[in-house]
Amino acid sequence: MHENMNEKCAVVGIYNHEAASKLAYFSLHALQHRGQEAAGISSADGNKLHTIKKRGLVMRVFDEAKLQTLSGTSAIGHTRYSTAGDDSILDAQPVFARYDLGEMAIVHNGNLTNAQEVRDALIKKGAIFQTFMDTENLIHLIAKSSKEKLIERIIDAVQRIEGAFSLVILSRTKMFAVRDRHGFRPLSLGQLPNGGYIVASETCAFDLVGATFIRDVEPGELLIFEEGKEPQSIKIFEPTPKHCIFEYVYFARPDSSVFGQSVYQARKTMGQELAKIAPVEADLVVPVPDGGVPSAIGYAQESGIPYEMGIMRNHYIGRTFIEPTQEMRDLKVKMKLSPMIDIIKGKRVIVVDDSIVRGTTSRRIVRMLKEAGASEVHMRISSPPTTDPCFYGVDTPSKDKLIAANMSTQEICDFVEADSLAYLDEEALLRSVNSDMHEEKYCTACFTGKYIV
Ligand code: AMP
Repeated sequence: MHENMNEKCAVVGIYNHEAASKLAYFSLHALQHRGQEAAGISSADGNKLHTIKKRGLVMRVFDEAKLQTLSGTSAIGHTRYSTAGDDSILDAQPVFARYDLGEMAIVHNGNLTNAQEVRDALIKKGAIFQTFMDTENLIHLIAKSSKEKLIERIIDAVQRIEGAFSLVILSRTKMFAVRDRHGFRPLSLGQLPNGGYIVASETCAFDLVGATFIRDVEPGELLIFEEGKEPQSIKIFEPTPKHCIFEYVYFARPDSSVFGQSVYQARKTMGQELAKIAPVEADLVVPVPDGGVPSAIGYAQESGIPYEMGIMRNHYIGRTFIEPTQEMRDLKVKMKLSPMIDIIKGKRVIVVDDSIVRGTTSRRIVRMLKEAGASEVHMRISSPPTTDPCFYGVDTPSKDKLIAANMSTQEICDFVEADSLAYLDEEALLRSVNSDMHEEKYCTACFTGKYIV
């Protein structure tokens, strides 16, 4: 369970602002949906780095007094989301280290595919590891690099790692942002109202702190932030974009723009495409909140069937996926979603969700709607069947637990006890996410098993 501990996360970096750690804190709030397990911020005051990180939501980890101690004009932050089990605070980020050039802190979103080899090689040479995070490999690679300057060491280190990484690195005076050659995970650059800079996993963080979007950090690019200079760009790798299509399907927030396109618009188009591919006669279109909302709107608009909020979501319960055991997951779905009986009773309902992973959520929802009196429940999924696990930073269970890897659509329909079930197909998904970009620009491995690295 321990090889992949840097799953879907959020990173942020603030450079040249007197309230850097506060802006990082606000940004992490906007990025909370990318990870609820732990949060952390490191700041740099020119002489020293200061770090606070803890398990829990951003709001619980920080308060005014704590943010006061994170002094300095630059800061990096992280929210962490991982699969099961490890309770260790050591696995929270930023990862901080003292080394021969001074101090540094790193935040990382993504998963390295050669983490174990790199780690084994480092351990053979005497390195000691404290956590299971891929990110610790990077700290060692940078610290042990024979190059003289930090920037050269960062380049040296990232050339030894493979897989998905959007990184922000903080030294006492500089900040660095790096994206892997495929640009698996998003990372955008923006300008703060005072002229300082922000890099963040999603642009919804920019909106919160009043920053203006400049551009995405390019796949394979290193950006260097230095006092009194414009950000410098170095191309470390030849870019070969393979953006994660699941960011559009589920992961990113609808008010963000990722990989050059609005997430909301992409999701709504997926719903419209779904209505064209898989129409069905019914009285209502109901989203599974919150993930299914934009695509249900698209489905309703395309089909002309009324959209209704037939399911209420309790917003004070975290994401159901987090819980490690099946039993807990079942319970959490019940706590989280409740039917609007007056709306649903006696109606033929089309229920729209973004994906089916294990099938547990869908079955609960169908049962819930039927118990509430729905006469028919037609399940529509705004992505193709999830058949393969992700090795690039999205938390999916192993193949044996992915229902679509083991059952046909009809079998899944029977399992979730729906009257009908239909998915979006790969072509329609690609059509939805940017007309001028084609299949090669995206990683679709979770739907196709076509892995790149
Ligand atoms: P399941 O019960 O395993 O089929 O879960 C499906 C639900 O989980 C859907 O409502 C999705 O919105 C949501 N989901 C899909 N992928 C993920 C993920 N990687 N992390 C958390 N939730 C997810």
